[in-house]
Amino acid sequence: MKVLVINAGSSSLKYQLLDMTTETVLAKGLAERIGIEGSVVKHEPIGKNKVQFKRPLDTHKDALDIIFKALVDENHGVIKSLDEIDAVGHRTVHGGEAFASSVLISDEVIEKMEENSVLAPLHNPANLIGIRACQEMLPNVPMVAVFDTAFHQTMPPKAFIYPLPYELYEKYGIRKYGFHGTSHRFVTLQAAKLMGKPLSELKLISCHLGNGASIAAVCHGESIDTSMGLTPLAGLAMGTRCGDIDPEILIFLRQRGYTTEEVDNMMNKESGVLGISGVSSDFRDIEQAAGEGNKRAQLALDVFQYRVKTTIGSYAAAMNGVDGIIFTAGLGENSDTARASICDGLQFLGIELDPEKNKVRGEETIISTDDSKTKVMIIPTNEELMIARDTVELVEAAK
Ligand code: ADP
Repeated sequence: MKVLVINAGSSSLKYQLLDMTTETVLAKGLAERIGIEGSVVKHEPIGKNKVQFKRPLDTHKDALDIIFKALVDENHGVIKSLDEIDAVGHRTVHGGEAFASSVLISDEVIEKMEENSVLAPLHNPANLIGIRACQEMLPNVPMVAVFDTAFHQTMPPKAFIYPLPYELYEKYGIRKYGFHGTSHRFVTLQAAKLMGKPLSELKLISCHLGNGASIAAVCHGESIDTSMGLTPLAGLAMGTRCGDIDPEILIFLRQRGYTTEEVDNMMNKESGVLGISGVSSDFRDIEQAAGEGNKRAQLALDVFQYRVKTTIGSYAAAMNGVDGIIFTAGLGENSDTARASICDGLQFLGIELDPEKNKVRGEETIISTDDSKTKVMIIPTNEELMIARDTVELVEAAK
């Protein structure tokens, strides 16, 4: 079965075509600046030369049109006809409480996603545009929605209810939902394989540390707590997002003349390690600046790592122990110094990092010592593969 995975943002659309009989990627790419001047589709057929199409792309449908032509093109195509696409899996951000797992897309599902758009005004409408454009162009192909929030629907109320008036939960659905669920699910499944134990017997803490960053406590295969909240702004310090702060700060700033938009923009785009360091939102730049003696860059790393460490500690408490810590995403997979700093001081949890083993990058491997009671692992995330696997499962089951 060949599955096309689509991740539609407001002005971008990422795609991967996978052959699921072998779980291999046939082609991948990205349409950028949709609806903005300078739009481009970057297409990468595996085993062939990469190619770029610089064309005006007014809509996501225009982008898909170029992508579909590229996929069947004589020179840089990977399939003969679009009929070879058996199913499409869509990455969708907010499933609210309506979706605790992936679903086959129907009119009813789209309606519920529309209702959930109030919870993710930046993401869900863009996901829906991607779904509709795909449906128009591949009208007879089954499609699946894979929600970023779904994996965390197993959290108990004590973890997801905010200590606010309960009516706000009932009236507006204000609660913790959590994100990066597809990634946390994928890496915990892989971790169990790597540890040679059933997932149902393991207490795992999954640290997805990229531009956006979140941690999940996964007890016996179920997410029981996670650091992001109603929105992906909560929890850890991130590239540009502030994570948890005293909510009264918002009122304080409003009283000093900042508008709601300014505060929103500040918390989402000007904070995190960028805000503290003043250097960059990219951890590579910050690590370099810190290495050259920049004190604020070092402070940004310290704040970031401290939050990761204390969240690991609190999730170990939530599960009454931990068997494995997983590092994934850009920073988690690549930065040995970040992993070492985070693990230093967690010896009380039975964590002993092996400095030699930790020197690897982006490789699925155990980096703790053989004696370490708690295993520490690098597991490169692969959300597209997880989406494609769900798509195959649901489409096969519906046959
Ligand atoms: P997202 O998908 O959230 O945009 P990624 O998972 O791609 O993010 O992670 C991006 C982050 O990973 C960037 O801040 C980048 O600096 C960091 N990163 C990537 N490679 C390295 C590396 N070798 N050392 C340190 N940080 C890295």
